[in-house]
Amino acid sequence: MTTLPIETGQKERRRPPSLGDMIVRHLVYSVGKDQAHAVTRDWCVALSLAIRDRMVDGWMTTTRRIYKSGQKRVYYLSMEFMIGRLLEDALSNMELTEEARAFFDERGLDLGEVLTSEPDPALGNGGLGRLAACFMDSMATVGVAGIGYGIRYEHGIFRQSFQDGWQLEEPEDWLVGGNAWEFERTEVVHPVNFGGYVSSDANGKPVWNPSERIMAAAFDTPIAGWKGQHVNTLRLWSARPAEVLNLSQFNQGDFVAAARQQIVAESITKVLYPGDHTPEGRELRLKQEVFFTSASLQDIVHRFLLNHENLEKLGDHVAIQLNDTHPAIAVPELVRLLEDVHGMDFRKAFDVARACLHYTNHTLLPEALERWPLELFERCLPRHMQIIRAIDDIATAEVLAAGKGIDPNVVRAIDPHYGGFVRMGNLAFIGSSHVNGVSALHTELMKKTVFKDLHTVYPDRILNQTNGITPRRWLLECNPRLSGLITETIGDGWVADLEQLKALEPYAEDAAFRERFRRVKADNKERLSVYVQEQLGVKLDPTALFDIQIKRIHEYKRQLLNILETMALYNAMKANPNGEWQPRVKIFAGKAAPSYTLAKLIIKLINDVADKINNDSALGDMLKVVFLPNYNVSSAEIIIPAADLSEQISTAGFEASGTGNMKFALNGALTIGTLDGANVEILEHVGEDNIYIFGMEAEEVAQLQSGGYQPWVRVGETPRLQDVVTQISSGFFSHGDTERFAGIVDNVLAHDYFLVAPDFDSYWSTQRWIDKDFRDQNVWQRKAVLNTANMGWFSADRTIRGYAKDIWNALP
Ligand SMILES: *Cc1c(COP(=O)(O)O)cnc(C)c1O
Repeated sequence: MTTLPIETGQKERRRPPSLGDMIVRHLVYSVGKDQAHAVTRDWCVALSLAIRDRMVDGWMTTTRRIYKSGQKRVYYLSMEFMIGRLLEDALSNMELTEEARAFFDERGLDLGEVLTSEPDPALGNGGLGRLAACFMDSMATVGVAGIGYGIRYEHGIFRQSFQDGWQLEEPEDWLVGGNAWEFERTEVVHPVNFGGYVSSDANGKPVWNPSERIMAAAFDTPIAGWKGQHVNTLRLWSARPAEVLNLSQFNQGDFVAAARQQIVAESITKVLYPGDHTPEGRELRLKQEVFFTSASLQDIVHRFLLNHENLEKLGDHVAIQLNDTHPAIAVPELVRLLEDVHGMDFRKAFDVARACLHYTNHTLLPEALERWPLELFERCLPRHMQIIRAIDDIATAEVLAAGKGIDPNVVRAIDPHYGGFVRMGNLAFIGSSHVNGVSALHTELMKKTVFKDLHTVYPDRILNQTNGITPRRWLLECNPRLSGLITETIGDGWVADLEQLKALEPYAEDAAFRERFRRVKADNKERLSVYVQEQLGVKLDPTALFDIQIKRIHEYKRQLLNILETMALYNAMKANPNGEWQPRVKIFAGKAAPSYTLAKLIIKLINDVADKINNDSALGDMLKVVFLPNYNVSSAEIIIPAADLSEQISTAGFEASGTGNMKFALNGALTIGTLDGANVEILEHVGEDNIYIFGMEAEEVAQLQSGGYQPWVRVGETPRLQDVVTQISSGFFSHGDTERFAGIVDNVLAHDYFLVAPDFDSYWSTQRWIDKDFRDQNVWQRKAVLNTANMGWFSADRTIRGYAKDIWNALP
């Protein structure tokens, strides 16, 4: 445990020890090594602890300030926090990078190696989890009193590798070497109950008699904003058994039975996304959601009661943001805590809960909207089920009062069809005061599709907050060369006020500046080439066009469109080997959900195509394809600064926002993209001459998907695509195996739900136009500079101010 900081204002202020002293002290007394025997990872731990000490001072000042001022508190509940490595970020935000570098230089050690020896906390899966992490950084920077609540997964998301081109999933073990950033709060433990039945007491009030109890133990990580002025907390819950050990069973020699309780309890926080193809897996997932949501709400109520008395005022002091529906059980759980534990009447409890809660929707995909079978819900959460029925009665009354002719059954949380389901999206909507989309287009589509009826009944509830990214991690830290050039040119005010990048705009016309901008990109491409060589043994030509698609593998994101176009390009190059081809490197990365067979087959296809193309010596360096394994925050930080071209090619209407698109454009990559998610707003900011838009728009997509589309006809009318599909069927990319990719061929020809064929030609010709523009580096670099200059609006600081003003009423 760290000692308390010295209060200022004492007569004799002790000089704080230097960072170097603190590192050495931690190496000896916390790690237990001397300098002669320390390995890189030991230095990493010692440095992290030294930085953490520095953060703790600001942390305590922040906490005291918030208590004193009564500033409204914001709680961000998220199943995922994809925070990435913390040391470099903390050093940078505390402005201690150069001091640390000098310390290691003196000892002949490389700070970079120390930083990369930190494991990447794999506590997220994709954009939703990364958004939560960017928001933590921005809340601390903007000065919002924010606490993030989530799960301390022991293994997090799986680690991806390839075996003969197929995805292999292995457990991540990020906690094995310990976690230098967290504080275990042994005194903060909340019980979370499951199962049993509901009876009533002498007054007829419901009493829940649960059959299972799991304890949630708190681990806190300090999150410092830019310059370390404001330090917030990320509190993650770890599951413990209610009883440490059943001693009588143990003493009778039944060691397995004695240990069983512990294993069952701890399974709750073992992994992110337990396989959900079994009933046990689905139940575990539901329990994870309830576990972290209930513990967080108990914690919030407890903290409120430390200096307030009247829980009816909870909404004046507290805003709770639900990151998607995973924590939507918060609606009945907060009602239950207020009613059953704190004695409020039901109607009042519901109004208080609704005043506190706000819900962010992240997807319109019907299969991704959470629905739990009534049977499972009733068995695990009998009391919540009663409360949801009562909430549905309120919703029904409100639907009828609105008089818009809406059928209450389409609005209620409980869907009685097919044996009955709890619709978590409806539950979150009904129980929140604000519901937000994550880009302008997505918000409009929400009103017209998934929440059409709810929007009619509650027309003021839906609003937009376009996502953003933190410029600290996604420019300052990941791209030191570019951030150095920017700071040299316009000063460093952009780090906390990204719209200042606008001052770079005139430099787009300055040939000398464009040349420096190009050199930065070239250096970053060299760095990525080294990484690719290390990871895959493939040698890249850093002067080729680096064309990059990195994101979760999903049909709607259309990695398939990209690889099909790659094959067509290969065919065209082979047919005309003396043509003036622009050399290209196609780079892919991303994980497929373990049970998503088609996505895993797409990975295999990309790897097989890579194998064929990279080993075709006749082609030389004209075309290369690489799939980097285990995409995560750390690999994104190396890949993104090296991109010339950013692939954002989802079927229009399906990508809620995207944030990868923002990271690339901020780092001077040009986008090839559809009019989808935040691409629409990126177009508005960078201007139509500086982005490559292709393909159908959301309305045309909806039209075509609603009936009459015959993909085999479309493929037949698209000769380049037809040729490629024929090649795949004939085993051209699979050593003659004609069966391997039958699933993909069948999908393209018979279903093509995500409309690869209708967008193929427009994608192809846009790519050829890009080839041409890239050849004139004057043209290309001018566009690239204008992208960086105009991406300031996409700072997560802007997004957080938007939430604070429009949703939380918590502007600092
Ligand atoms: C930004 C980010 C994402 C989200 O990428 P999209 O292209 O918006 O889907 C996913 N994973 C990681 C590691 C990221 O950094």
